[in-house]
Amino acid sequence: MKRFFLSAALATLAASGAVAQAPAGKYPEPPRMSPEMTEFWTPQPPIVTPAPESNITAPPSDAIVLLGDGVNDFVSAGDGSPVRWALENGILTCVPRGGMIQTRQEFGDCQLHVEWRAPQPTEGQTSQGRGNSGVFFAGGLYEVQVLDTYQNETYSNGAAGSIYKQSPPLVNPIRKPGEWNTYDIIYNAPVFREEDGKILRPGSITVIFNGVLVQNNYVLRGTTEYIGHPRVVVHGKGPIQLQDHSNPVSFRNIWIREL
Ligand code: MG
Repeated sequence: MKRFFLSAALATLAASGAVAQAPAGKYPEPPRMSPEMTEFWTPQPPIVTPAPESNITAPPSDAIVLLGDGVNDFVSAGDGSPVRWALENGILTCVPRGGMIQTRQEFGDCQLHVEWRAPQPTEGQTSQGRGNSGVFFAGGLYEVQVLDTYQNETYSNGAAGSIYKQSPPLVNPIRKPGEWNTYDIIYNAPVFREEDGKILRPGSITVIFNGVLVQNNYVLRGTTEYIGHPRVVVHGKGPIQLQDHSNPVSFRNIWIREL
């Protein structure tokens, strides 16, 4: 059915002159992509034991606190309505099907500190089904994966600390479910030429995970897609998003410094 709609859409575009029409059957159609085509399981990131869980890293004086005692700086990503996640003592926990949430404010280049905790897994949860969430930049275009990869293997380019389906983490320094992990992320937004959207500077992301470098100024190839290859999307500033992937992952102490 999807194929039909796509064909119909292309036919409409072709009729409007937006797409040059190729004679039917002249060129082969590329195979449709499945999610597995962009998942790489080996090598698995080596396990590194991080320092013991520590207390909250207090924000520096020039940081914007996005999640402290309250959740007023976030809204539901779909419709801007109040967040439907659970907040208790400064800990914000995803309520499955509560929806993605995002910051009210939009950000470009930034340093972001996030603390997150995976729930104790229930029986049968494996791979991407265990403690899955995500930290997204530019309104959902680029995901730093949040996942419980403690004694839980998955495709390495979808592990905790990966740039989802682009770059596996250098190592796996995750703590046990129930313990707090920290991400310190430096995001440099791509810069586009105003006239035609040409990339003047690609975006890049550095991630320090529990004090251990896992992404070393990784240069983004485009959006982080579940199915298919990265796409280049011209964009400006955008909100930071946290993913509802149907697991009750918790967050606390999120702060950001604009660069
Ligand atoms: Mg995710």
